[in-house]
Amino acid sequence: MKIKTFPVNPFQMNSYVYYCENTGEGMIIDPGYYTKYEQDELTEYLNEHNIKIKYIVNTHGHIDHVLGNAFAVEQFQAPNFIHEDDLFLYNRAEHQGLLYGIQVTKMPPVSGFITPGDSFALGNNKVEIVHTPGHSPGGICLYDRAEKVIFCGDTIFRLSIGRTDLPGGDYDTLLNSIRTKLFNPFDDDYALFPGHMESTTVGYEKANNPFLK
Ligand SMILES: [Zn+2]
Repeated sequence: MKIKTFPVNPFQMNSYVYYCENTGEGMIIDPGYYTKYEQDELTEYLNEHNIKIKYIVNTHGHIDHVLGNAFAVEQFQAPNFIHEDDLFLYNRAEHQGLLYGIQVTKMPPVSGFITPGDSFALGNNKVEIVHTPGHSPGGICLYDRAEKVIFCGDTIFRLSIGRTDLPGGDYDTLLNSIRTKLFNPFDDDYALFPGHMESTTVGYEKANNPFLK
């Protein structure tokens, strides 16, 4: 399995393409592609590596994570998924954009809601879901046990955590999600790929993250 990171849009949000290099089956996690340049760069990368996008998944409904959904759904003709508890944010993406001076293309309908226990097949691998509310009510992380990787959205960052002052955010809920849904079940050597900034590991954050001491 391979991970390609595209930091995109004015928020420098990490959009990930996670794919199986044997079968070419891939998924886009948080398609925040904003400019034509960003969109073309993604399309070229997928063409070059013969990647067929099977799923588009939003870790949550904030503007920087969803603003390229219309582009991605149209371009790759793949179903898009989000947790139902963040639908209110997803549906308000255009309004969220106004607050930041960013024009958002009308959001496409959601193909399905994600529930914990769901999984997405990519080649022989299985990407599973865990619900991690706190940064937003419907925040989720995606993980692949075979590769020991977790795509954690804005739940946790290297030496930081997601903000909790946006609608539906809650500080205690977020810390509880990190402790019981990430730190507890996953070994220290799992890699964490967050929605902003560089990747880290469960072990490094357990030892060093100032919010979780
Ligand atoms: Zn966010």
